[in-house]
Amino acid sequence: MEICVRQLDPSKRRSKPDEKHLVFGRVFSDHMFMADFTEQSGWRDARIVPYGPLAMDPAAMVLHYGQGIFEGLKGYRWANGQIWLFRPEQNCERLNRSAEKMCMPRIDPALQMRAIEKLIGVDKDWVPHSVGSSLYIRPTMIAVEPHLGVRPAHEYLYYIITGPVAAYYAEGFNPVKIYVSEEYVRTVRGGVGEAKTMANYASSLYAAELAKKKGYTQVLWLDGVERRYVDEVGTSNIFFRIGEELITPPLSGSVLPGVTRDSVMQLATHWGIKVTERPIAIEEVIETAGSGELKEIFASGTAAVISPVGEICYRDRNYRVSDGKVGSWALKLYDEIIGIQYGEREDLFGWMRRLDV
Ligand SMILES: *Cc1c(COP(=O)(O)O)cnc(C)c1O
Repeated sequence: MEICVRQLDPSKRRSKPDEKHLVFGRVFSDHMFMADFTEQSGWRDARIVPYGPLAMDPAAMVLHYGQGIFEGLKGYRWANGQIWLFRPEQNCERLNRSAEKMCMPRIDPALQMRAIEKLIGVDKDWVPHSVGSSLYIRPTMIAVEPHLGVRPAHEYLYYIITGPVAAYYAEGFNPVKIYVSEEYVRTVRGGVGEAKTMANYASSLYAAELAKKKGYTQVLWLDGVERRYVDEVGTSNIFFRIGEELITPPLSGSVLPGVTRDSVMQLATHWGIKVTERPIAIEEVIETAGSGELKEIFASGTAAVISPVGEICYRDRNYRVSDGKVGSWALKLYDEIIGIQYGEREDLFGWMRRLDV
């Protein structure tokens, strides 16, 4: 399928934001990619057009029944000016797994990749230059058929928007305080927790706001059935270092299979660390925090890469982790992954893809 490009009139191009004051998710590049799906014709009309509002019927099914999915990845500008992506085919495949779960159509990963490459080619000046900054890329698919009544839609829109984002830890690593939610759950096994779909974020808001009011940055989510086993933290995967072992909950259906999670597991294994995927009960976390065996907790995700946890609140008691500081494994993983993403460390696993832009 050919991708048509309609460039924004050069006089209408927006000025780039000051790279020193980039705010995540606020500023978007000049163009976006779009393609339409109908049951009769499949995906068609792939195009790059100036960024702007979508015209949509108020009865569009995504607006009523939440049939929508997305992805999140980044483009990194290397010191030599080249632009590289980190394991983008993982995001393309995950979009299709989310699509299947949400009864939406697949989109050929090769088309997704070409769309990203061509879009970044058109907006390459939007990929920031300052150290640690990047271009955030948000592929999205939504049900646009105007229809009231619950069933999978027959018409969809796939689009990609991008925008420059700052280094997550511009002020240095800052361990976060997390709150264990026993009353509210994000998702349950058998639900849609393993899909990157809108519903999961809507259902996380209430508990996240409560935690924020109490002074915590993120919610630690327990499984929705027994409310005992750790699932995730905020919108990130979670790791525990107990003794010299790295433990993360298994992909049981209520955990999002993070690309960063997988990368952490591969790197740690490569370093000779014992990495275990197993259910981990909150009691075990609290007990080992008390005994000192729990050395580190950290979250993993595209936005922050690694986010160390310095304190955890469970049943109105606070437990310090790593003395409130950044654990050595969290730091080592962070440095290594960032180093690979910016071409400063050897890409042993062949994760990076250079864009021909
Ligand atoms: C996106 C996401 C993650 C992290 O996935 P990455 O591919 O590492 O960015 C983890 N949990 C949830 C709920 C997510 O939406």
